[in-house]
Amino acid sequence: MKAAVVSETHVGKVEIKDVTLPKLQNGQALVDVEYCGVCHTDLHVIKGDFGAVPGRIPGHEGIGIVREIADDVTSLKVGDRVSIAWFYEGCGTCEYCVTGRETFCREVKNAGFSVHGAMAEQCIVAADYAVKVPEGLDPAEASSITCAGVTCYKAIKVSNIKPGQWIAIYGCGGLGNLAIQYAKNVFNAKVIAIDINDDKLALAKEVGADLLCNPVTVGDSGKWIQEQVGGAHAAVVTAVSKTAFNEAVNCVRAASKVVAVGLPPETMDLEIVKTVLDGIEVVGSLVGTRKDLEEAFQFGAEGKVVPVVHTRPLEDINQIFQEMEEGKIQGRMVLDMHYNK
Ligand code: NAD
Ligand code: ZN
Ligand code: ZN
Repeated sequence: MKAAVVSETHVGKVEIKDVTLPKLQNGQALVDVEYCGVCHTDLHVIKGDFGAVPGRIPGHEGIGIVREIADDVTSLKVGDRVSIAWFYEGCGTCEYCVTGRETFCREVKNAGFSVHGAMAEQCIVAADYAVKVPEGLDPAEASSITCAGVTCYKAIKVSNIKPGQWIAIYGCGGLGNLAIQYAKNVFNAKVIAIDINDDKLALAKEVGADLLCNPVTVGDSGKWIQEQVGGAHAAVVTAVSKTAFNEAVNCVRAASKVVAVGLPPETMDLEIVKTVLDGIEVVGSLVGTRKDLEEAFQFGAEGKVVPVVHTRPLEDINQIFQEMEEGKIQGRMVLDMHYNK
């Protein structure tokens, strides 16, 4: 089976190889991958930002059809369309797993990082953790919801934003375009989109942003947002830059949350006096639970959220990572495995 594999010799590159998957174990299912979105987290993984993983198959925005199930599997059947997500499997019994916070399980497995992911013709999933894709949701669009969509949906839940309030979305890339749509069409918020690239802001406008802000043009976005709307009621930061995190803290009103989602391998500055006097909460948010993904898919199936996707063959993967690094991608690039059939 053909797969992209993190290179053992070239840091930051993948190689297309023929890989043989192990036999299915109890609780597992084999999936024929149809689509896999390329997330910026995959770029962090192949560059070794979270630790080197040579030989790993990346990919955690996978969608595919179940081809085979282990004898004991009851939650899936052959022919089901399912997701292959970053939250691949939790232990099921720890304090996080049993209190609705399963993505923070200390024994967690992550697709495309600690176990093989979906940038391949086939992938093994933990059957009870593969979320079914609802009828009526296009599978290429579903791939983008499997990480980007659910992550933003969850982060906005965490932000506690209320209808009619202003939310600042930092970064309008693969995640950001979906954050804008969930914020607007599901949470009924007013959206300020912030990005350093005007083409990303044009897309933000197309998908519903109310106010656009390019810090390259207006200077500090925090100050600008305070001037324009009296401060945002919450911010979600998907940008891969510490500058954005710092500006987000400055853009919110007192007693508001800044939800950290982007993963630049650096530290942010947090002015202690402002944090205390303004009661600012800075909180991390990590993908979403199986339930969050089910809900995020459903909003996609209802047409409230329409991921912006472009399909490409698996062979383009290194080129796609380069385009991502250069900020050239609008929405999401999705690997289409049908090209190889
Ligand atoms: P992307 O490359 O598609 O988008 C990033 C966007 O940030 C781009 O549009 C870029 O122009 C913009 N940007 C860069 N610097 C900026 C700045 N200073 N101010 C405003 N915008 C700026 O990436 P993506 O796939 O959307 O992923 C974004 C980040 O989120 C990555 O670090 C990824 O690893 C992370 N991520 C986190 C989770 C999670 O669970 N927390 C899940 C998925 C992805
Ligand atoms: Zn657990
Ligand atoms: Zn991701």
